[in-house]
Amino acid sequence: MQGYTQLIEKMLDAPNIEVQLDCEALCVVTPDTCGKFKKIFHTGPIDEFFGYKYGTLPYRSLKFETQVLDTEYYQNNSVINYPCNYDFTRIHEFKYYLNEKSPKTVIAREYPEKFEIGKNDRYYPEISSESLSLYDKYVQSAKSIGNIFFLGRLGSYKYLDMDKAVEQAIAFLGK
Ligand SMILES: Cc1cc2nc3c(=O)[nH]c(=O)nc-3n(C[C@H](O)[C@H](O)[C@H](O)COP(=O)(O)OP(=O)(O)OC[C@H]3O[C@@H](n4cnc5c(N)ncnc54)[C@H](O)[C@@H]3O)c2cc1C
Repeated sequence: MQGYTQLIEKMLDAPNIEVQLDCEALCVVTPDTCGKFKKIFHTGPIDEFFGYKYGTLPYRSLKFETQVLDTEYYQNNSVINYPCNYDFTRIHEFKYYLNEKSPKTVIAREYPEKFEIGKNDRYYPEISSESLSLYDKYVQSAKSIGNIFFLGRLGSYKYLDMDKAVEQAIAFLGK
């Protein structure tokens, strides 16, 4: 009811949780240093962890072009999809989310882009028999280490909505 920030803040209040921000996980844990830890749960990209030794897992990325407009509203809803009419696929208008009032409005056009390391972010896994067999090679590498578990959308190479990401973590810990 109070949003994700409150939920996560409360969870992180637990006395046995230490948070380190602005910390590159791969400075601490690599395939060679896993032995120093009892169990590791990593939610970063599995191919990056293994230094892309079998190749890069393909993803679709997005580019957002933001505009501030001198009008109260630009469109009639928070997100409108344009599946085949233009280069962009969606227009977001953020003020609808929290019902904000302002004489201006902020919109973002969303353009599909291929994911490239260092250029943009991983958004949607490009699932194919090739990419799944590449992913499986990384899973086998993780299994051979034994105490590292890859979770979340990047660790499991799946598009997961928030509820599914949480469900996956709970189900994993219940095993
Ligand atoms: C474009 C897009 C739209 C979405 N829209 C919705 C929606 O409308 N509703 C919904 O429910 N879900 C939506 N989702 C899904 C939602 O974002 C995911 O379910 C959620 O973020 C998954 O959480 P996660 O912890 O697995 O991954 P993430 O949230 O990606 O968290 C992984 C974290 O690990 C960090 N990290 C990665 N590598 C390293 C490293 N080497 N060292 C340190 N840190 C590292 C990253 O910076 C990141 O903060 C959307 C996802 C995308 C991509």
